[in-house]
Amino acid sequence: MFDCDVLVIGGGIVGLSTAYALTRAAPGTRVTVLEKEHAPARHQTGRNSGVIHSGIYYRPGSLKARFAVEGAAEMVKFCAEWGIPHEVTGKLVVATSRDELPRLHALVQRGRENGIPVRELGPAQISEYEPRVRGLAAIHVGTTGICDYTAVAQQLAEASGASILYGAEVTVIDRRPWGVAVRTADGRILRARVLVNCAGLHCDRIARLAGDD
Ligand SMILES: Cc1cc2nc3c(=O)[nH]c(=O)nc-3n(C[C@H](O)[C@H](O)[C@H](O)COP(=O)(O)OP(=O)(O)OC[C@H]3O[C@@H](n4cnc5c(N)ncnc54)[C@H](O)[C@@H]3O)c2cc1C
Repeated sequence: MFDCDVLVIGGGIVGLSTAYALTRAAPGTRVTVLEKEHAPARHQTGRNSGVIHSGIYYRPGSLKARFAVEGAAEMVKFCAEWGIPHEVTGKLVVATSRDELPRLHALVQRGRENGIPVRELGPAQISEYEPRVRGLAAIHVGTTGICDYTAVAQQLAEASGASILYGAEVTVIDRRPWGVAVRTADGRILRARVLVNCAGLHCDRIARLAGDD
C-alpha cells in the first residue's frame, strides 16, 4: 500500500542531502522528495552567499561546531568528487579598532579548539592577503571556501537515486497508525511509512499540517 518508504518534503539542500544520506545508509530504501517548485534549490539554497563556512563561531564541543567543521570538509570532498565549481579561498576576520581585539583573540582560541587552522596576522600581513584591507590585527581562517550550492543540490538529487517530484506542493498531511498520506495541490496522493519535513522557511506550516504545534 506504500508508494515509498520515506517521503521528504522540500527540494533544498537539507531535503536533498537527507534523501542522499538515507539511500546510502540503507540501500534499497525508496525515497520520494516532493518539491513545490519546478527545479531544486529555488529558495534559500540557490540564493545564498555560496560560502562553505568553517565553523569557527560555534561553541567548542557543541554539535553545531562538530557538524559545521565536518560538513565543510565533506562539502569540499563532495564538490571535488563530482566536479562542482568550488574553491577553498580562506577568509580574513579583521579587527579595525582596539575594542575588537579581545573578541578577535577569543575567536582564535575558539577556532583552535574546534580544530580549524587559524593564523594570526599583523597589519603588514593583512595586506599580503588583501592589499585593500586595513586593520589593527586579523585572523586567517584556512578552511573557509565558496561553492555553487545550486549545482550541489542538483548533484545530490541525481546521486541520491530518489524519485524527485517537482511542482508537487504538499497541502494536506494525514497521519495514520501505519504511516502517513499526503496530498499535493494538483491532487496527487502518496503514502509512506515516514515523512521528513525539510521545507525550509515553510517547515512550521508543514508541521502544523501534520498536526504538530
Ligand atoms: C541570504 C542568505 C545567505 C546565506 N548564505 C549562506 C552561505 O553562504 N553558506 C551557507 O552555508 N548557508 C548560507 N545560508 C543558509 C542556507 O542557505 C540555508 O541554511 C539552506 O539553504 C537551507 O536549506 P533548506 O533545504 O532548509 O531550505 P530551502 O533551500 O529554502 O528549501 C526548502 C524547500 O522546501 C520547499 N517547500 C516548502 N514548502 C513546501 C510544500 N508545502 N510542499 C513542497 N515543497 C515545499 C521550498 O520550495 C524549498 O525549495 C544563507 C541563507 C540566506 C537566506
